[in-house]
Amino acid sequence: MKTIIINGIEDELFHTAAQALKDGDLVAFPTETVYGLGANALNPEAVKKIYQAKGRPSDNPLIVHIADISQIEDLVLEVSHKAKALIDNFWPGPLTLIFRKSSKVPDIITAGLDTVAIRMPNNPIALELIERAAIPVAAPSANLSGRPSTTECSHVINDLKGRVGYIIDGGPCDVGVESTVLDITSDIPMILRPGGITLEMLESVVGKVDTDAALELKGNVKPRSPGMKYRHYSPKAEMILVYGSQDDVVAKINELSAENRKKGIKTGVLSSLENAQKYCADTVIVTGSVDNLAQVASGLFDSLRKFDEENVDIIYSETFPERGIGRAIMNRLKKASAKVIKETEI
Ligand code: AMP
Ligand code: MG
Repeated sequence: MKTIIINGIEDELFHTAAQALKDGDLVAFPTETVYGLGANALNPEAVKKIYQAKGRPSDNPLIVHIADISQIEDLVLEVSHKAKALIDNFWPGPLTLIFRKSSKVPDIITAGLDTVAIRMPNNPIALELIERAAIPVAAPSANLSGRPSTTECSHVINDLKGRVGYIIDGGPCDVGVESTVLDITSDIPMILRPGGITLEMLESVVGKVDTDAALELKGNVKPRSPGMKYRHYSPKAEMILVYGSQDDVVAKINELSAENRKKGIKTGVLSSLENAQKYCADTVIVTGSVDNLAQVASGLFDSLRKFDEENVDIIYSETFPERGIGRAIMNRLKKASAKVIKETEI
């Protein structure tokens, strides 16, 4: 399939892409979180193409994107008081809300669940595209299934060129990690996936918010968000998270890198800005300062993808504080990694 790359809203083909989206083609587009792979949410045949293009398991439901609050009426059974407050405070923005679905939402979007995930992205290109297409747009992240999400147009081209009709270039994404997924179908809202809107921000609007116990990745608790059960966001090489004090982590990673070098194994390190000069590995990728977790989030997936370009055999990663957006960062790093080295083992 020929893929047409479109350069933002001013491109004369932007309107063609919006029309093609409405008519059942796939269009990848920027949002403030990551790039999305869009299809007409009301057309099951179009939505099927998303699963095919990404190689996405069919039991992993999709988020429906809207550009105007009035679009929600057709898609859900009710909008509670708490939902209204969250919408007023955080839409457009990186918060996905789970509602009980109406019969108009095709089953292929919700993977048979009786709930639907909806969000209004805070990106002018995304909003204009959805508005011009005049439909709700089903869109998962625009990456091949299992790979790191895409936060720059070049990432989308690498994964999906030849598999989708259009890719709209909107430059790098600001937030860099996906939206927070919040289930509001019961009294106390529950975070199913940590993301751009933090627990602290949610609680300041609606009081107590729970977090799905399965996110701790301990034991065999089944996550309530089907997508969270898959290994995800992974670079090609095996990644190992190293926990501990900064000095211990640097020493351990340097020791392992030296051993690897003797065996001819090429080592990469995902480092904070603060420690970057201290490593003697083959490739050191800096993802941002520990004092600026928003910066770490914004560069995270690009950093993971860079290890593929460097052809490393193994990656050791520092860990980041699990507060604010740090929870989303650590959730993605845990899902991307095969194992961890704990403080006690150093
Ligand atoms: P993606 O768009 O690829 O970032 O993934 C969307 C995330 O939202 C996945 O983790 C899905 O499992 C989750 N999701 C979508 N719809 C629902 C739903 N109705 N209930 C729970 N989780 C959902
Ligand atoms: Mg995804």
